[in-house]
Amino acid sequence: MAAEQVRLLVVHGGHEFETNQFLQVFRDNTNVTFEVAQHPAAHARWQAEPAKEWDVLVLYDFWQEIGDEAKADLVARLKEGKGLVVLHHALANYQKWPEFERIVGGKFYLEKQTVNNVEKPQSTYKHDVEFTVRIANNQHPVTQGLTNFVIHDEVYGGFDVSSQTHALLTTEEPASGKTIAWAKTYEAARVVYIQLGHDHLAYENPSFRRLVANAIRWVAKRD
Ligand SMILES: [Zn+2]
Repeated sequence: MAAEQVRLLVVHGGHEFETNQFLQVFRDNTNVTFEVAQHPAAHARWQAEPAKEWDVLVLYDFWQEIGDEAKADLVARLKEGKGLVVLHHALANYQKWPEFERIVGGKFYLEKQTVNNVEKPQSTYKHDVEFTVRIANNQHPVTQGLTNFVIHDEVYGGFDVSSQTHALLTTEEPASGKTIAWAKTYEAARVVYIQLGHDHLAYENPSFRRLVANAIRWVAKRD
């Protein structure tokens, strides 16, 4: 029923991608409706009134500039219990806003940085890797219906994963960090990060689609 569909706000900007094939993931999901917002206009959609139009924020952006109002709006929406799904390169967003790392539960370092007196090297990426993804927790709602799978995608290395996260997917691929998807909470919100999703070879992978659909349903508290 239409009334039960989860309403998404899909945010992009700052990074090229195969737009049509990416959005097809959401067009093909009959459990959602979606609107697309592109930076720099996207932040305005996080304000209280416009946010009444969406239940779950899907971040597929690659963006650094954020003002105090947008920071406060995002935190306020999460305190209200809106859901958040963060995909792929959005792990590198807002490098200079530490709360974003706390929200997402991880960070991709665009340049080397010293954090708490620890030198963090620049994170890495490698395109066109065919690798096996393992289900780390088959009891979690986000991994329901999934078994270990092979995907052709970009991998990241040297990124941080918070101890406040629950691992959903791992890989032994040497060019990749071990944990590549996780679930957590932030204030009243449920949050899922999925590192997969560089291009159509990921978008069209049935396991990727199942993951994204499960993540949306879980963060929307429809499970
Ligand atoms: Zn990518």
